[in-house]
Amino acid sequence: MIKVLSQETINKIAAGEVVERPLNAVKEIVENSLDACADNIIIEIEQAGKKLIRVSDNGFGMDKKDLELSVLRHATSKISDFNDLEHIQSLGFRGEALSSIAAVSKFVMKTKKKGAPEGWQLTTEGGKNIKIVPSSGSNGTITEVKDLFFNTPARRKFLKTDATERTKIVASCEETALANPEISFKLLSDGKTVFSANKTNNKIERISDILGRQFASVLKNVKAEHEKVLIDIYFTGRDDSQNNKKYQYLFVNSRPVNLPKWLVHCVYNAYKESIPREKHPGFLVYIIIEPSDIDVNIHPTKREVKFSDESQIYDLLYKTLRNALTTQVHPNIQIQSEKCKVKSENKNIINHDGHSASHFSHSALSFMEPQKRWTTEQYASVFAKPSVIPEDCNRESAVNPLPFVFDENIKVLGQAFDTYIIVENRGELYIFDQHAAAERVRYELYLAQLKSKKLKSQQMLIPETFELSASLSSLLKYNLSLLNELGINIEEFGDKSFRITEYPALLGNISIEQIIRKIIDDLEIEKNIDIEKKRDKIIRSACRASIKAGDNVAPVEAKKLINDLFKCDFPFTCPHGRPTAYKISLNDLEKFFKRK
Ligand code: ADP
Ligand code: MG
Repeated sequence: MIKVLSQETINKIAAGEVVERPLNAVKEIVENSLDACADNIIIEIEQAGKKLIRVSDNGFGMDKKDLELSVLRHATSKISDFNDLEHIQSLGFRGEALSSIAAVSKFVMKTKKKGAPEGWQLTTEGGKNIKIVPSSGSNGTITEVKDLFFNTPARRKFLKTDATERTKIVASCEETALANPEISFKLLSDGKTVFSANKTNNKIERISDILGRQFASVLKNVKAEHEKVLIDIYFTGRDDSQNNKKYQYLFVNSRPVNLPKWLVHCVYNAYKESIPREKHPGFLVYIIIEPSDIDVNIHPTKREVKFSDESQIYDLLYKTLRNALTTQVHPNIQIQSEKCKVKSENKNIINHDGHSASHFSHSALSFMEPQKRWTTEQYASVFAKPSVIPEDCNRESAVNPLPFVFDENIKVLGQAFDTYIIVENRGELYIFDQHAAAERVRYELYLAQLKSKKLKSQQMLIPETFELSASLSSLLKYNLSLLNELGINIEEFGDKSFRITEYPALLGNISIEQIIRKIIDDLEIEKNIDIEKKRDKIIRSACRASIKAGDNVAPVEAKKLINDLFKCDFPFTCPHGRPTAYKISLNDLEKFFKRK
């Protein structure tokens, strides 16, 4: 006979999927605190979470009605229909965690919404007898799970020893803390502090708090950017490889996730010639990507993420890491010291998709020909440098980010070949490509002004008019509204003629016609790209053309330019991926001249 199951039974079954062990409950509850924008989260467990899990946060809390709804199955404030999943930014979205946890525990949730006069407390046992009473307390939420699986003894039996269950919880909390450095975390187990990490905007400080100072002190950092992806990589250098795979992490949009095979393959490939075979790299890869370019809904506990374009990330990560690993010292000096050591192993690296990555490979032979081996692109990450841990990792220093390597003290030594700015800064010599640097500064300024809707525009007293060929003019017509949106106002003025009336002031005093021509030329090469890419391409083209045409980077402005450059998010490459600078450290020079 077929029976419709009671809600209680349904919840218990669902609980089996979401809460297999205490770890899952901890993770879900902490994710709720993160989704509630808390910046201070305290996690307490007793008997490895079997007896008690308590998570206290200072997030936005709930009112009485939300509290009531929160323990109902598929009650979520985070999405309202399936389409929302495409843009999901929050960690939770299925609305089944709390109902599942409450179904198999003695559950208490105390919450106060910011600004509300009073707070509320909800209690339930095994999801039954839900009671809500007023309560006192500060803003935020305390979620308490007692006697997990008290009413599902079979599941309780499946649990491992306290030590094993505790280790799983600690590892998960560590990952969450690594993924969210801007949030303070504290984990206590049976009253003892396991770790405590103050919020910081410096990832290396967080890594130091969680994985230890010693490991953090050998890490190097390099960032990469590509259209809708940003990758921030902390990695061990050639001399600091590890004996195991313990320190290998991936975070996608602040979510710790399992390392996919292709990514492990990519990283090991990049390290191929840099570390011995039996050794392992330590790395933390932070990826920021458009939510619509990943699928987070492919795994019950959200440990896996599917990227819509894995090969793009593979290539970017490989290239960046490989460059960073091979260019930490001046290449000429490297040639001197490592000529004999390096073997050519990776002439034809094929990545998982079968794309050849051989254009990144270096052969032993090419060590003899530095000019050929080191293409400009490969310098993109030349700055990979050991990140410094502040002397004193205590509370005060935790608040301040590490001083960036560049500041007002840079010494501009001069200009070479009307193109390069030579700068001394803190024991290092830098050669900047002034065009690439100016392009980067302009590009980020353009984006920032657009984003804040404060694009400063320049009205033309006498509008510039120009004519295009039939095909180019139809391409321009097609893109007129997009250009207008980006502050470049062009009107049709006859059949193939156009008139420019206004353009972004940051492009400077240059022939806007030339800029338009450049934009149209670039658009012509790649016609079928989506609107976002197109917008970005137009901005990049405009910035590049404006620098070329105007060349208004006088040597006297060099210092300002370099300082502006180092305020950029991605100072080391121009928007087209060319490097902006080349570094020679004093140490490299001394080695070269055999003073050391
Ligand atoms: P989900 O996170 O998938 O939406 P949950 O069952 O984990 O589902 O939580 C249900 C709802 O309860 C959330 O959508 C949120 O509105 C609310 N909630 C849970 N925990 C908190 C918290 N710590 N602070 C504020 N709101 C919370
Ligand atoms: Mg949740």
